[in-house]
Amino acid sequence: LFKMVKTYTHEFNTKLYKGEVSFKTGLFINGEWVDPVDGGDMIDVIDPATGKVITAVAGGNTKDVDIAVKAARKAFKTTWGLKVPGSERGNILSRLADLLEKHSDELTALECLNVGKPFAGARQLEIPAAVYVSRYFAGWADKIHGKTIETNEKKFAYTRHEPWGVVGAIVPWNGPLVSAAMKIAPALATGNTVVLKPSEITPFTALYLADLLNEAGVPPGVVNIVNGYGLTVGSAISLHPNVDKITFTGSILTGRKILKAAAESNLKNVTLELGGKSPTIIFDDVDLEQAIKWAAYGVYFNMGQVCVAGSRIYVHEAIYDKFLDGFTNFAKGLTSATGAPFAEGTQHGPQVSKTQFDRVMGYINSGISEGAKVHVGGERSSDEGYFIKPTIFVDAKPSMKIMQEEIFGPVCSIVKFKSEEEVTEWANDTTYGLAANVFTQNSARAIRMSHALEAGTINVNCSLSMELNVPFGGYKQSGMGRELGQEALDTYTQVKAVHVNIGQAL
Ligand code: NAD
Repeated sequence: LFKMVKTYTHEFNTKLYKGEVSFKTGLFINGEWVDPVDGGDMIDVIDPATGKVITAVAGGNTKDVDIAVKAARKAFKTTWGLKVPGSERGNILSRLADLLEKHSDELTALECLNVGKPFAGARQLEIPAAVYVSRYFAGWADKIHGKTIETNEKKFAYTRHEPWGVVGAIVPWNGPLVSAAMKIAPALATGNTVVLKPSEITPFTALYLADLLNEAGVPPGVVNIVNGYGLTVGSAISLHPNVDKITFTGSILTGRKILKAAAESNLKNVTLELGGKSPTIIFDDVDLEQAIKWAAYGVYFNMGQVCVAGSRIYVHEAIYDKFLDGFTNFAKGLTSATGAPFAEGTQHGPQVSKTQFDRVMGYINSGISEGAKVHVGGERSSDEGYFIKPTIFVDAKPSMKIMQEEIFGPVCSIVKFKSEEEVTEWANDTTYGLAANVFTQNSARAIRMSHALEAGTINVNCSLSMELNVPFGGYKQSGMGRELGQEALDTYTQVKAVHVNIGQAL
């Protein structure tokens, strides 16, 4: 059997970050580091900037999930749940937020090493988002209450918002720490316990987080971290009869499997945050320079590996040529700022893995073979690692795969439109409904469009708004339920109605 509870230390020696960062490579169950019971899997974690193995970490299996679920259930019944006052749960989450903040350089370094994100951007945006979301839900922990409802003079009812119990949290690789925090924080604030499965491609920050949970005073078993493959650990969590809820972020394909597993096991509650194919619509009255910057940021941020990426860009015919020129310059500028995550000036890094690299290149080739034209990019930008140049397609038609399917890479199509009616119809013509971006100075049109577009998030004169105190989630096949904001509290609780008779005779 492999002994995977080892300490891995990575030495960073770059201009942007110097220092040693250590974490353990086993499974974190009941507040302790353990080896997988049957040896489990040894999973190589690859550096996307070089394609080389960084280190191997443990992957569990069904038995490990079972042990983790038992630990989570026990903690729910004894040291967490409604046994602990909300104020105390909030204090613990606040301490966790403080620790995440204290360790944000180490966490940023690990995230960038593992995912290939440019260091400066991740330090500025992503790790602070994980801190903020923990603090935000810490504040909610003592403010979860129901209502008193008068029924008649002699009877009333009150409602309680009770935790589900054990929550299985399954997260993807594109924002590993922030997506874990977006699930752990509201789950704990509302009194649930958690079995977290990081993506097997990007487990580093979740493993680092484990020791911070102990340091923050999260009782053993309240958060368990079982790394491993989707087909083993992920499906064991979603099929487990003692898991009460799944909160999942990832692809539609996996979302369907999770719903099916929930239906076939114990009808557990499921929240799904899935993919997108978001439109960006640019009318002819915009501040062109700002619209170009927002639209480009909206699709190229994190190398296009963002669920809300605005990969279909519709531009009014009156400004199409000017927009395309400006956008092209932006994409070329980004191409020259391509580099390793820790190199100075890097704004564009590699795709996360060889699989994703091949997938994105496959979409580029399909766009070409279906008759669209690569305006810039469309190829790898280095022999080493998984780098793809920021790419623009022109002459794309609505039925093409590049216009219908999520590419999850730095690829967009820029398409000319004539009228508001036409562009609204095109924008809504997909099975996705995660986000949509509208650029116009005409406020009546902005509101009209915001109401007509079929998406859970509408950005007016901006893109990628991931404000963590605002509810987030998908229309159509982009998801079920909402994360973030006050709405998230509803998805982590079930409502009990208590009817009280104070004198009504039968
Ligand atoms: P994925 O669905 O392949 O994997 C997500 C997670 O599910 C991973 O941890 C994986 O191991 C696990 N998994 C895989 N098969 C499973 C199974 N059969 N049962 C249970 N778990 C399983 O997605 P990905 O490639 O990691 O992430 C990219 C996708 O995530 C994109 O579609 C993207 O749009 C979506 N995403 C959505 C949001 C959102 O908030 N809506 C945010 C980020 C990413």
